Amino acid sequence: MARYTGASCRLCRREGLKLFLKGDRCYTDKCAFARRGYAPGQHGQSRKKLSNYGVQLREKQKAKRIYGMLEGQFRTYYEKADKKRGITGENLLKLLEMRLDNVVFRLGYGNSRKESRQLVTHGHFLVNGQKVDIPSYILSVNDVITVSEKSRASEKFKVFAENPRTLPKWISGNVESFEGKVISEPAREDIDVPVNETLIVELYSK
Ligand code: SF4
Repeated sequence: MARYTGASCRLCRREGLKLFLKGDRCYTDKCAFARRGYAPGQHGQSRKKLSNYGVQLREKQKAKRIYGMLEGQFRTYYEKADKKRGITGENLLKLLEMRLDNVVFRLGYGNSRKESRQLVTHGHFLVNGQKVDIPSYILSVNDVITVSEKSRASEKFKVFAENPRTLPKWISGNVESFEGKVISEPAREDIDVPVNETLIVELYSK
């Protein structure tokens, strides 16, 4: 799968907020945004007033970067969300949240979505007992995610088990039991990403 391979911290600086793309480092004083909280590049420190289009574009870029997508992939999610019943912006965020790599991240396996995606690609997880190594796999309600028997003994998974994460309401399980379950679709208020999805819909529906 194609992915962005540039410097993650530049993305936070471009969007003007911490996107938490690098796991533990984001919580230390090594965070590049904490040290240089302005946009990268020669004119990064000059403040420009954004047009409506600019505001919408930045919101879309921010969402794309939080979930680690490229433009084409993100657009495909938007088109799927638009075809579903309900509010398109909310559908979009729900689809992104139901990706296997995101659920694995929410469960506490991985310090960033990028690391969780890599864990999925490396075949550490089963969905309903079957190995799935596709990060973009969209989970359904009642799907059970487990860590493969072989991976449970690894040092990495022991560290995750020692550092359980608070789960959102729509997921059950924990890293100590090596199992998680999607108990419902996430409601908008359960999705804690700092994104105004309405602006993204406005941008794409032009
Ligand atoms: Fe963003 Fe994390 Fe880099 Fe800080 S350390 S700029 S939060 S990716």
